[in-house]
Amino acid sequence: MNAPLKISMPAEASVAPKAYKLLIDGKHVDARDGRMLERKSPGHGFMVSHYAQAGAAEVEAAVQAAHRAFETGPWPRMQASERAAILLKAADLIEIRLEDIARLDALESGKPIAQARAEIGGAVDIWRYAASLARTLHGESYANLGDAMLGIVLREPIGVVSIITPWNFPFLIVSQKLPFALAAGCTAVVKPSEMTSASTFVLGDILLEAGVPAGVVNILAGLGADVGAPMVSHPLVEMVSFTGSTRVGKMTMAAASNSLKRVSMELGGKNGQIVFPDADLKAAADAAVFGGFFNAGECCNAGSRLIVHEAIADDFLGAVKALTARVTVGDPLDDLTKVGAMISSDHLAKVTGYVAAAASEGGSIYSGGGQRPSNAGQYLDPTILRNVTENMTVAREEVFGPVLSVLTFESIEKALRIANNTPYGLSAGVWSASIDTCMSVARGVRSGTVWVNTFMEGYPELPFGGYKQSGLGRELGKRAVEDYTEEKTIQFHRGQRTGWWVG
Ligand code: NAD
Repeated sequence: MNAPLKISMPAEASVAPKAYKLLIDGKHVDARDGRMLERKSPGHGFMVSHYAQAGAAEVEAAVQAAHRAFETGPWPRMQASERAAILLKAADLIEIRLEDIARLDALESGKPIAQARAEIGGAVDIWRYAASLARTLHGESYANLGDAMLGIVLREPIGVVSIITPWNFPFLIVSQKLPFALAAGCTAVVKPSEMTSASTFVLGDILLEAGVPAGVVNILAGLGADVGAPMVSHPLVEMVSFTGSTRVGKMTMAAASNSLKRVSMELGGKNGQIVFPDADLKAAADAAVFGGFFNAGECCNAGSRLIVHEAIADDFLGAVKALTARVTVGDPLDDLTKVGAMISSDHLAKVTGYVAAAASEGGSIYSGGGQRPSNAGQYLDPTILRNVTENMTVAREEVFGPVLSVLTFESIEKALRIANNTPYGLSAGVWSASIDTCMSVARGVRSGTVWVNTFMEGYPELPFGGYKQSGLGRELGKRAVEDYTEEKTIQFHRGQRTGWWVG
């Protein structure tokens, strides 16, 4: 049994919680009925934030503002170079406020502060990448249609985009969507998770300061049913960009189908890391621990299934267990912490429920397994489960906690079957020194990303998204701005009309 954690209270605990207003049409406003949402730090237990709580009236006002900004405002009409300059300024301002933003995300989500800093740094890079893409957006021309015809295919911004984000990477995920929508010339209504809205409100202020005109970006805190749902069904919204659970993603897609909106869906994952005997086992063991326990396992890309060759299973898992014992669980604001707090007590109970279910279905707890006692906040010890088989609940469902399920294989065919035996298809990893093995797995796995002899790296240049029920569409990459555009075909005819119909 690990010693109880001693969590110390940060300065924020002795001052009033920060209050955030909604951002609608460039103004900070309260909700009409005065409702507020409250957020406590899951790592410390004190109240960090109050947000004005939006409802249907605020959704209407925000969508109308975004629609006006799109129909009559300067944003979609200005030169791409001007939009790019504003996005670059925003990136600089995010960089200047990196420490504040990281601290808000760490306090509201329970993630470790050092990791939060890296995420905000990554977000800065994405804003700069989106700015560079703004200037490369172009259509096509066809001068091969005969002398009288010139075909031009324009890329026009799609219109008002509803952006809905989850709690696990609050600032990073909005930064995977909004800068590309803005680069294309769209306007947006953004709804962060009701548990982690603060950093998105800070982003709203940064965008106004950078020169994004009023109404182009509107930000609403609120619950999914009250705010997310009307943002999806509103007739003036042309596209929904959603990141969250597969369950809510399906509901969102069904709601968007009424008005045939474009949807982009980044959903859950049940990702496998496959380890072969000829791999660099030291590196693979470290990646197994990283994959399982990074962000306390509250990560769509978590390598929650460790699929190990039988021949090395005992020794390899011994190394994984020894490394896991060295993972520092604790205060999210401590620079040395690797695994912070769980997002909520309900979620913690759900995760421990999965561990209990695994034990009752024949799995065994090899390491960890329970809640870590502490004087404040809610923490779980990183847990490794052995003797997990493909059809056990813990092997099939997204646990979203620091729980690593170990499965074994004796042939590449079986490894691939296990990896693919899930409704999800977000990502996978393969560890081997053999190019043949790596290529066979990389080609055979049904997922949007495959890491070969590495795990969970990300670059704005590389598209990201899921196969199967992990999503629809891709984010990032060179086509990320195009996703927020419509194609318009224009046919220019010159000279006397050809192909008279009646004559
Ligand atoms: P969630 O689906 O519960 O909520 C996501 C967002 O949807 C929140 O803002 C929520 O308020 C909103 N929402 C809830 N009901 C809604 C409705 N009826 N209509 C519109 N919006 C609604 O997800 P979560 O618990 O916040 O996040 C965890 C999930 O997100 C996990 O499944 C994880 O795998 C997934 N995720 C995926 C990626 C990816 O890139 N694929 C990245 C991060 C998280």
